[in-house]
Amino acid sequence: MKANLLDFDIEGLAAFCAGLGEKPFRATQLFRWIHQRGEANFSEMTDLAKSLRDKLSVSAFVKAPAVLSQQASVDGTIKWLFDVGAGDAVEAVFIPETDRGTLCISSQAGCAVGCRFCSTGHQGFSRNLSTGEIVAQLWFAEHFLRKHLGQSTRVISNVVMMGMGEPLQNYAALIPALRVMLSDHGYGLSRRRVTVSTSGVVPMMDRLAVDCPVALAVSLHAPEDHLRSQLVPLNLKYPLVELLGACERYLAHAPRDFITFEYCMLDGVNDSVEQAQQLAAVVGSHASGTDWCKINLIPFNPFPASGLLCSAPERVQAFARALMASGLTTTIRKTRGQDIDAACGQLAGDVMDRTRVQERMSNQRTVQFVRAPSTLAGAAS
Ligand code: SF4
Repeated sequence: MKANLLDFDIEGLAAFCAGLGEKPFRATQLFRWIHQRGEANFSEMTDLAKSLRDKLSVSAFVKAPAVLSQQASVDGTIKWLFDVGAGDAVEAVFIPETDRGTLCISSQAGCAVGCRFCSTGHQGFSRNLSTGEIVAQLWFAEHFLRKHLGQSTRVISNVVMMGMGEPLQNYAALIPALRVMLSDHGYGLSRRRVTVSTSGVVPMMDRLAVDCPVALAVSLHAPEDHLRSQLVPLNLKYPLVELLGACERYLAHAPRDFITFEYCMLDGVNDSVEQAQQLAAVVGSHASGTDWCKINLIPFNPFPASGLLCSAPERVQAFARALMASGLTTTIRKTRGQDIDAACGQLAGDVMDRTRVQERMSNQRTVQFVRAPSTLAGAAS
């Protein structure tokens, strides 16, 4: 069977080339052709020996999943839907800014974590993406954009693993994919510019710290366990104290001296001033005070199946002010690509709902989010 060379980091490609009787430097040349020049046709790789090109043409190929659709927002955001077979599709989103170009990519078709506020979570889990399918999103987007913009230099400066799926539940495929992104012979991205976002898979956070410590974002969304377990069911397995302990350990390896906490603002659920104060107290009780993390508040993008609403802007502002008054660096995420449903939590793709999770979640829609008395008082004020 032919191998898709997008599945290999540089070490893997060297092993593959060794199997063809080739020296490691040939793998480096080949890797550069693929990732730096976007070349998929071996006959165009003119500095490779003809004998190697012939061997490659019978044993390998370079191919991204087919693009089912491409949508461009008025703000320059572009969303691609990739066909990963058997009725599954995943999305990648390019977000241009004046000082950077960020690509948000997917790691799984669907997701098993099932966060209440996440469109992907409502689809259930279909399967893990391969390393090649993760890398292909970057490979395709980078070289498409260069061509589109008539640019020969790098367009994508940052990658965030915040698309569909929980990256740390697809660890074996994730690590080689990250290495391709970081490799000087690949995309040459710095560790600070590659972010893995996790809902809190504690043991894998510890492994990531050792194997490939890139920037870390953690989906927090609640200041206490009871509420967090309802919003992010993985919290039942890895409660806040364990999650924050893992964050503290990660800091010793992190390329930045902080961890980002993502907090989706849900109207009347997690957005009171008291909850902001509670959040500051919880975070402040770990590591050294409050300067080891940043809080990123995400305005929720409502979708009918969630049964949830977005907090009003003034409530988001009040929440942010309360966090900042407690010494926490806080940002409010600017929503991008809203006209093409490219904003965070809207990546829906077209994944078959094999686990009937939609049905299970819709049965839960009447669940009341129980809050502590002080929180209820805050919500009313
Ligand atoms: S927020 Fe992330 S971890 Fe949670 S269901 Fe969505 S994709 Fe999965």
